[in-house]
Amino acid sequence: MNPIADLYRLQEIDTAWEKIRQRILQLQKFVGGSPKLNQVREQTQAAEIELNTIRKEQQDTELEANSLGERVRESEAILMGGQVQNPKELEALQANVESMRRHKETLDDRSVEALVKAESLAAKYASLQESLSTMEAEWTSTQATIEEELQRRKKEYVYLKNIRDEAVKTISAKYLEQYEYLRGRKNGIAVAKLEDDSCGACHMQLPVGVIGSVRRNEEMVSCTACGRILFAAG
Ligand SMILES: [Zn+2]
Repeated sequence: MNPIADLYRLQEIDTAWEKIRQRILQLQKFVGGSPKLNQVREQTQAAEIELNTIRKEQQDTELEANSLGERVRESEAILMGGQVQNPKELEALQANVESMRRHKETLDDRSVEALVKAESLAAKYASLQESLSTMEAEWTSTQATIEEELQRRKKEYVYLKNIRDEAVKTISAKYLEQYEYLRGRKNGIAVAKLEDDSCGACHMQLPVGVIGSVRRNEEMVSCTACGRILFAAG
């Protein structure tokens, strides 16, 4: 093997390795939380609290109305019973019954309004619960797919790292240094293939003398335009 071919092979390994590294970073972003799912979860919890509050309010109002109804009936029994003879006392009792009755009507109204509201809140809560469980199921399955690919990519990453470690051993320090230097500055491409007498990376036509040197594969020859190391395949 000639050293430039070794460098070109190293570049192929590095390109594949970098692709996997990018994919791992991308996948890691999708692992864990989902803002949309969290939002629906919060909405569902809020709807449940709102529903429980209105139900409690409705029950309290109904209890209060019932106990007031009981007191109205007791007072009416007293009025009818004839135990109270004093006209002023009768009048006061009568007025009290009327007042309790009006208050009970208000409570009954409030109770019905709360019932109606609770019913629509219950429908909203049920629909949110349904969306949430669908989303959770989808999320779990997506997470499993992502997790599976992530594990696979990590193995590929380690595999390529080992291949790279081996490949680097065949390359001289001087060549490797130049390769790393160019890769960092030339968009990850340090070695360019000779293609129809042009540089395969920047596509500039190369001088005949340069082409001859590249074909001899004896030394490191740089593209006169972009400075990348030129490689003549086969
Ligand atoms: Zn070039």
